[in-house]
Amino acid sequence: MYVIDRGAKRMTNRYQNQNVLVLGYALTGKSVVDYLLRENANITLNDRGDLSQDPSVDLLLKAGVKVVDGGHPIELLEGIDMVVKSPVIPYSIEIIQEAIHQKIPVYTDVELAYLHSQAPIIGITGSNGKTTTTSLIQEILNKGIEGQAFLAGNIGIPSLEVAQMASENDRIVMELSSFQLMGIENFRPKIAVFTNIYSAHLDFHGSREEYVRAKLQLIKNLTAEDYLVYNADQEELVELLADSPAIKCPFSRKEYLEKGACLANQGLYYDGERILEQSSIAMPGDHNIENVLAAMAVAKIEGVANDDIEQVVSQYHGMPHRIQYFATYQGVKYYNDSKATNTTATITALKSFEQDLIYIGGGLDRGNDFKDLIPYLKTVKAAYLYGESKEKMAHDFQAAGVPRIETVENLAEASRRAIEMSQPGQVVLFSPACASWDQYQNYEVRGQEFMDQVHDYCRGLE
Ligand code: ADP
Repeated sequence: MYVIDRGAKRMTNRYQNQNVLVLGYALTGKSVVDYLLRENANITLNDRGDLSQDPSVDLLLKAGVKVVDGGHPIELLEGIDMVVKSPVIPYSIEIIQEAIHQKIPVYTDVELAYLHSQAPIIGITGSNGKTTTTSLIQEILNKGIEGQAFLAGNIGIPSLEVAQMASENDRIVMELSSFQLMGIENFRPKIAVFTNIYSAHLDFHGSREEYVRAKLQLIKNLTAEDYLVYNADQEELVELLADSPAIKCPFSRKEYLEKGACLANQGLYYDGERILEQSSIAMPGDHNIENVLAAMAVAKIEGVANDDIEQVVSQYHGMPHRIQYFATYQGVKYYNDSKATNTTATITALKSFEQDLIYIGGGLDRGNDFKDLIPYLKTVKAAYLYGESKEKMAHDFQAAGVPRIETVENLAEASRRAIEMSQPGQVVLFSPACASWDQYQNYEVRGQEFMDQVHDYCRGLE
């Protein structure tokens, strides 16, 4: 059986003569194969899809990689010392069940990245706010520490690529999904961040307990030298983390904490010291205060100066398509929240503004209604609805008493009408509450189109 030696971290050829089965050949799988080739492993690559059209596969064959596609034949396990699987491949498939039965270790790439990395890792998980918090931490550290802070993980950058680049003066700021965390054994971040925990992703994990257990993998190897930053407003999370030996750094938006990070008297405190003013946070919404508190706690642990933290927080407008501020024209602020593909996300957006709103939304009809939105529509002065679900939305917006509702053909028309109707001091919010696939390839394309339309139309008016 394959045994990992943590002490051998800096050696090359760690996997020399090891027989490794790599399952899945997308972005992560490619980085795994690339890395293992350099480490001189004997690689079998297996994907259930058709790899014959992938030009990189020829090179792999020439390099001696055995490539099997079109299914997951169980015979591939013969002689295998270790399986590295893509995080999206479920454990329930036969080949993985059999590997577990045969006591062959099954890892995800983050385990290998950890073992290779010389740079300390800051690992971020949670149900919501992972990407925003990860990216904000990276921005602050890049302002305030000597080395470089690299993004990695679920945010879309393979961890192994980063682990090979980063040196011991650097930091790897790694967003971790529960799927990635399920495949670790030794992985141990220097700082673990838990943004929150809600019931989500239950379809993959089967039950809430399993989902929680996967998330808790983040802290399983923490020692008394490591840090644990977590949302203390969530009682359940506090209980789940209570036994960790790590140095605890709670954050709270609701009550003053002597130790850790909190919001009090319109300021953000860390260990009793006022670090920055609430008003300097550029991102809207209570949820983003929580994300800033978590990022601030990490920055303080890393010794970043208060001024540096405040400067970044005051200029950071969030990740693209997530309640993203992108323009002001004639006193109207424009926000793109195209990532909001359900009513829960749109409620978060609606709650984030005190100003009057001009709302734009609609998209794929999943057979649901929009009644959940009704209590949060009081500030909406006009709504422009498009796409398959526009009539259903109009019905519920009417019930909420929104004074002006128009259904239109597409996003371009909705944007144009919203711009025409908006008054200085108001916010135009595109938070569709629906998936994009009735008219778009994905939410990114949809969000970009919205921003382009606003810029084009408003510049034409100037
Ligand atoms: P994730 O990476 O966990 O999906 P993101 O940072 O991409 O989270 O944010 C996605 C959406 O989740 C946001 O647009 C917002 O609606 C919601 N959100 C962000 N941060 C939080 C938070 N701390 N608590 C609750 N909801 C949040």
